Formats: sequence, structure tokens, C-alpha cells
Amino acid sequence: MTNPLYDVAIVGAGPAGATCAWYLAKQDIRVLLLDKAKFPRDKFCGDAVIPRAQRHLKRMGVLDQMVEAGECLFTTSGGFVSPAGIECLSDSTENPSGTPMSVKRIIMDERIVRAAQSAGAELVEEVAIDKVAFDEQAGTWSAHSGSKRFHARTLVLADGAHSKLARSLGIVQNSPGAICSRSFIEGGTHSFETDGICYMERDLLPGYAAIFRHPNDELNFCTYIIPGGKAVPSDLKVLHQGLLDQNSIVRRHLGSGYKIEPMKGAWLRLGGIPKSYADNLLIIGDAAGHIDPLTGEGIQFAMEGAEKAAQTLIEAFRVGRFDEQFLSAYQDKWHKEFGSKFGLAEKASQLMARYPELVDSMAKVANQRDDEFFFAWADIMMGEAPWSAFLRPKLAIPMAAAAVRELWTQRFSPSRRRVAATGA
Ligand SMILES: Cc1cc2nc3c(=O)[nH]c(=O)nc-3n(C[C@H](O)[C@H](O)[C@H](O)COP(=O)(O)OP(=O)(O)OC[C@H]3O[C@@H](n4cnc5c(N)ncnc54)[C@H](O)[C@@H]3O)c2cc1C
Repeated sequence: MTNPLYDVAIVGAGPAGATCAWYLAKQDIRVLLLDKAKFPRDKFCGDAVIPRAQRHLKRMGVLDQMVEAGECLFTTSGGFVSPAGIECLSDSTENPSGTPMSVKRIIMDERIVRAAQSAGAELVEEVAIDKVAFDEQAGTWSAHSGSKRFHARTLVLADGAHSKLARSLGIVQNSPGAICSRSFIEGGTHSFETDGICYMERDLLPGYAAIFRHPNDELNFCTYIIPGGKAVPSDLKVLHQGLLDQNSIVRRHLGSGYKIEPMKGAWLRLGGIPKSYADNLLIIGDAAGHIDPLTGEGIQFAMEGAEKAAQTLIEAFRVGRFDEQFLSAYQDKWHKEFGSKFGLAEKASQLMARYPELVDSMAKVANQRDDEFFFAWADIMMGEAPWSAFLRPKLAIPMAAAAVRELWTQRFSPSRRRVAATGA
């Protein structure tokens, strides 16, 4: 019996691959979704899912399922702690743009895969694809797993941050540059009072640590190491443990005697790859570097990029064109939607690493202003408002004034210089 020829084969059934499969199957495209794991499968993550991703989950019916089953928690209380230890906490229940939610990936990812299957995608689990090859004459791709072969007119690579398959084709050339840890803390064993807090430690910037609460009171503690600061990926274990043992605010928030699992860690590919297409081929999600260089978050871009890839392929099938020139429209689409902001996000992260005082000044301003100020700031961080919103007088004036004041006090004031000179 000959192998069937699918319209699209997708390697990797994480949020990127499964969402892409859902959008394609909804338009009656014949989709094959391949994953080396068997679902439900875990994925090391901070488990924070922002409103941009929630919109796709809503469309797929997955958000309502999770809310109904009590599997997710909307993060309405929390905020951040600045490098100088200023706690900036707020209640964002009233934010009209919504709030992040936490959900375990072992739950969410399976629900997305099942939605894709219900829409008509065919799922094959426990197949680790070790090679992909393009038959130029036939204009088809084959995906190989040992002696098994899968054939499709087009191929979507959604195999995560290592991008092993795109690297094997020479389209992606480097290793992922950022890393993040995760440890669950058992519910009922800690004294954490809010839903989520980011800890912006001086030595970790532009990375940070975060705690998010799950509906069952379990906590997710993770530590992001983002390039550009003092910390390097090999410091992960030491910094993760150091925060738990030595950061007095983390210690106060968690209390003593909590039960925590051993640290896990995984890589992040930040900032988007320069080319995410080839003949009959697209690359999406972490494999395409669709992670925010400032926050390290990528679920929303995995899903938005997946939708853009599906739109491009649906159009390709409509006109019967699969060459790389035609498929380059996908790169333009994701770049316009979110990729064009990656450069600025990277610069902002470098600035934070160089001048941690700026984060202190933001915390001070936010603590002095009303909720509206906090929401405006949160909207920019969640990608609900453009970065240019920082230039609105309501944000720009108090923030600029506070930044100058903070830099002066912490770096340049005569008393500060005296302290530095005497070492006192
Ligand atoms: C520790 C950590 C914390 C994070 N925290 C957050 C957060 O709080 N919020 C947020 O938005 N983002 C976060 N991220 C980023 C987020 O996890 C990713 O952006 C997201 O998972 C991308 O989805 P994806 O589908 O591209 O990749 P993945 O979720 O990695 O899925 C890839 C899939 O491909 C499969 N696969 C891989 N290779 C093969 C192969 N050869 N053959 C077959 N199948 C294969 C894997 O089994 C997997 O199911 C975090 C990342 C890390 C590492």
C-alpha cells in the first residue's frame, strides 16, 4: 500500500503546530500532525498565557473548556519587584484588556491537540522525525522516522527551540541563546499571597524570575536567563537556587518549609529567524524564534504565527503555488504582526540590564499612580498596546522624570559618589 499524500504535514504538535493544524483543518486542508511525544505531554514553561494567546484558545473552544474544568487561573493580583526591592503590586481585575492566566502546559497543549483533531487533523504520536527531504521533481516533502515515511505537498516545521530539522536543512544556523528553569511548588506548603510576581534581580537582568499560581494553589517558579546581562546559560542552576535561598523577598513571599520539585530547564530561541520559508516549507513557533526578547514569552506568537502560516498555505492551495517566493508572504505577515517589535524589545532588555535603576524608577512611579497607569504599562508589556504608547504624556512624563531622579540618586549624586569612593 502506498503512503497517502497529505496537503500539509506538521512536525511538532505544541501550541504552534497544533494551532496551525486547527486553522488548516477548519478550511478542509488535509493535515497530518506528527509528534515524538504522546499527549498529554509536559513542556517546561512558566505557564503564563497572555490575552493575545487566549484569543486563539477562545476561537478553538479550548479556553471555555479550561475555564469550565477549573484548569486555569486568571492572574488578577500581582506585579513585579524591582532590582532595589521595591514591590509594585496591583489588582488588575478591572483591566479592560484582560490579564494573563496560568495553566499547566500538560493540560493546555493536549486540549489544543484534541481541538485540532476534532477539526479534522490526523495526529500520529510517538514518531520522532529524524530527517525531512524535498523531492523537487514531485514537489513533495517526506518526513522520516526510522523506517516510517510520511508524505505531503507542504511541510511545516514546529519542532521547538532547537529547530533541529530546520538546522539540518541549513535554514536555521545557530543554537538557541536563552534558557529558563521551572520548578513546581506544592500547593498548601507555601505562603505566596498573590497570583503572579516577576522578580527583576539586578544580577539576572535582562532576565528575571517569576512565580505564577495555578488554580490548585501549586506555584510555578521559573528563572529566565536572557542574553545581554551578566548571567549566562550555564549559571541557570545556581541563579535559580540562589533566588530561592538568598533573595529575601522571594523567601518572605514563599515562607519556609514549602515543597519544591527539582529544577528542570529548557532553551528559548528569541527574536525571530531571518528566513522562515523555503520551497513548499514554513517554520513556525519556537523553531522560528518567535519568542519576545524582553519577556521570554512565546505562546502567543506560536499561535499568531501559526495562524499566519495557515493563511499563507490556504492561499497557496487556492492558487496552486508553493515556491519560496510565494511562501515568503508568511515571513512578511508575522513580521508585520509581531516580529517588527522584536528589535525594540531587545533594545529595551539591553537598556534594563545596563540601567537597572530604570526598573526601580518604573516601580516607584507605578506605586504612586492610579490603576489606569498600571494597566497602560501592563498593556504595553502584554502587547495589547504598541510601544509608542510609552510616549503618551500620561506615561512618558512621570516615567522620564522618575528615571532621571533614580539614575541621579543611585549613580551620580554627590552622596552616592562619596559612598562609592570610601567603599562605605
Ligand atoms: C522554562 C520556560 C518557560 C517559559 N515560560 C513561558 C511563559 O510563561 N509564557 C509563554 O508565553 N511562553 C513561555 N515560554 C516559551 C514557550 O514555552 C514556547 O514559546 C512555546 O512552547 C512554543 O510552542 P512551540 O509549539 O513552538 O514549541 P513546543 O511547545 O516546544 O512544541 C514542540 C513540539 O515538537 C515536538 N518535537 C520536537 N522535535 C520533534 C521531532 N523531531 N519529531 C516529532 N516531534 C518533535 C515536541 O515533542 C513538542 O511537542 C517558556 C519557555 C521555557 C523553556
